[in-house]
Amino acid sequence: MDSFIHFDAVSKSFGTMKVVDGLDFHVGRGEFVSLLGPSGSGKTTLLMMLAGFETPTSGAIHVDGVRVERLPPYKRNMGVVFQSYALFPHMTIAENIAFPLKMRGMGRAERESRVTRALDLVRLGELKARRPAQLSGGQQQRIALARSLVYEPKVVLMDEPLSALDKQLREHMQLEIRELHRTLGLTVIFVTHDQGEALTMSDRVAVLNRGKIEQLDTPSGLYDHPRTRFVAEFIGETN
Ligand code: ADP
Repeated sequence: MDSFIHFDAVSKSFGTMKVVDGLDFHVGRGEFVSLLGPSGSGKTTLLMMLAGFETPTSGAIHVDGVRVERLPPYKRNMGVVFQSYALFPHMTIAENIAFPLKMRGMGRAERESRVTRALDLVRLGELKARRPAQLSGGQQQRIALARSLVYEPKVVLMDEPLSALDKQLREHMQLEIRELHRTLGLTVIFVTHDQGEALTMSDRVAVLNRGKIEQLDTPSGLYDHPRTRFVAEFIGETN
């Protein structure tokens, strides 16, 4: 497999507590990989180290051949989507999406064409003059997705982006995210504690437990050949 993202013996401690424990794994270019595990297993910390908001205590992270673990987030060109969408309430949707581009000094014409492209991707172009309070939860989450795509990143990191949505909307958004992944050729790292979501969306799933990967495998590999009791029981909770 073409190793696009590579974690090499990465650990992270907060004080005396080791929350990520010597991880080694590869993600291929264009893969959709979920980080699945119970609360506190280290999923978010792992994602934050990839995004650049946390620095590993030890180990190296490579993305596309570049060693990144000491680079600030803005030098990594990754899109990031969190569970809470945190849009600026006083700005229109277009301004919200353009804001990070403006901060980096991009000119107005380029900003406007990028915003239009990003909104078209999530099919919400007609809402660009509205303010966040005028949108539903699902629409706000799609705006957050558009904002993560506005840099035209090759890697998108998502931390429980759908967990605040009701079931029907969540399933719809799962399909939309898969579709964006496919059409844009994105590499996606998707954090979830929901077994069903991880298994239906991902090319491969990393099952985390106490800061270690118990198994990194295809959905059918996890189902048919769980390597540890933890994996068997955790995957078996899928309903
Ligand atoms: P998950 O995303 O799987 O729920 P996290 O990566 O958020 O797990 O957290 C793993 C562990 O690290 C938890 O015990 C959490 O309390 C702890 N932790 C996370 N961030 C910090 C921090 N900034 N300072 C101290 N402890 C933290």
